[in-house]
Amino acid sequence: METVPHSLGCVVLVGAGPGAADLLTLRAARAIAAADVIVHDGLVGADVMAMVPAGARLVDVSKRRARHTLPQEDIGRLLVREALAGHIVVRLKGGDPFIFGRGGEEVEACQAAGVPVEVIPGVSSALGAAAAAHMPLTHRDHASMVSFVAGECRSLSQQDWAGLAGKGRTLVIYMGVSGAAQIAEKLMADGLAPDTPVAVIERATLPTMRVLRSLLADLPGLVSREAVVSPALIIVGDVAALGLTPHIQQKALPCPAY
Ligand code: SAH
Repeated sequence: METVPHSLGCVVLVGAGPGAADLLTLRAARAIAAADVIVHDGLVGADVMAMVPAGARLVDVSKRRARHTLPQEDIGRLLVREALAGHIVVRLKGGDPFIFGRGGEEVEACQAAGVPVEVIPGVSSALGAAAAAHMPLTHRDHASMVSFVAGECRSLSQQDWAGLAGKGRTLVIYMGVSGAAQIAEKLMADGLAPDTPVAVIERATLPTMRVLRSLLADLPGLVSREAVVSPALIIVGDVAALGLTPHIQQKALPCPAY
């Protein structure tokens, strides 16, 4: 009797961008359209989720659904299992898979299991936020260096940010909302002036985006006064004072003929 050859599937890590579906790359849209299984997290925008083909099976591994983050090893095992079953598995992640997206661990899990894996970049939220707020992360007159850091409270004390913020530099802090007070304290302890411009960009690129501005010493006050919620980015440096009209601005206006 002839045996049916075992067909190997594959895993595609896809960057879903910061929220707006038309910020997906063409390659990402093509991968989503071809998927048998889509493993996604909570940051993927609703408009992107609406592009999932009717026949694809959705697996939600977000905190919201699982009440806690699914251990990374479990996500890796899930991707491998589905690919070995012959499926095209799209691992859909907010922003870019390799910027605070744990994409590296998932690639390693696939490679260890001999599963073909591809990575499709996405517009990381820092880039989406900067564009939508007209806040250039580098600028000939203001900043020639930009750093992306993780501002999670539990790892803050172990991180060395010395030299990442200051004159001529832009610091973009992901996951920093709940630790805003410790972040301001840490930066000022490192010698950053209390009157350094800061901006908080909430729900970047989505219709409900907010751009809030203040000075470093007031960062915790700004976050609590405005009841900032995740997802939001904190931008520290002179460029934080550029862009849309100061203080609260709901969203960028599209060009009329666009
Ligand atoms: N891979 C993602 C980042 C994941 S870490 C990327 O490249 O963007 C999660 C953090 O990303 C959030 O805590 C927040 O700081 C930021 N973030 C993601 N989407 C965002 C959005 N639409 N607006 C503002 N910040 C966002």
